[in-house]
Amino acid sequence: MPSMMRGTTDNGLLLPVPDDDGRPFWEFAARGELRVQSCAACHRLRFPPRPCCPHCHSFAGEWRRMSGRGRIWSYVLAHPPLLPGYAEHAPYDVVLVELSDAPGIRLAGNLVASPTAPLGSVDRSRLRIGAPVKVVFAEIAPGVHLPRWQLEHS
Ligand SMILES: [Zn+2]
Repeated sequence: MPSMMRGTTDNGLLLPVPDDDGRPFWEFAARGELRVQSCAACHRLRFPPRPCCPHCHSFAGEWRRMSGRGRIWSYVLAHPPLLPGYAEHAPYDVVLVELSDAPGIRLAGNLVASPTAPLGSVDRSRLRIGAPVKVVFAEIAPGVHLPRWQLEHS
């Protein structure tokens, strides 16, 4: 991983800090793939990444590619006080997306109008629990691709 994975982007957004278990998630994201860890013994999915299957306790894992589609399970609008890099985009949405391929697994992220659009670029009147979304990957720093979400009917 590039050393720039620590710290913040040029405009003050926090960068992910992958650990050994989560590093593959970010490596796949950099290739435009949304993958979730799966047990190689009982084949159940788990998130966030961890070394051991919570169902059968196997340490054998693999990364299964997801379709990238899901639905908004819940959301909030973030208001200050926030870190300076975030405050300038406020109020912006933070969504929990339940993956279509993995009911019960929910990823936190943001809605965006396009992969390169900023936080808060989707009008808040369009936020709906249950709205279908698809993943996009925003390169927030060189080599660092963050999964974000676009409304299916945008
Ligand atoms: Zn298992």
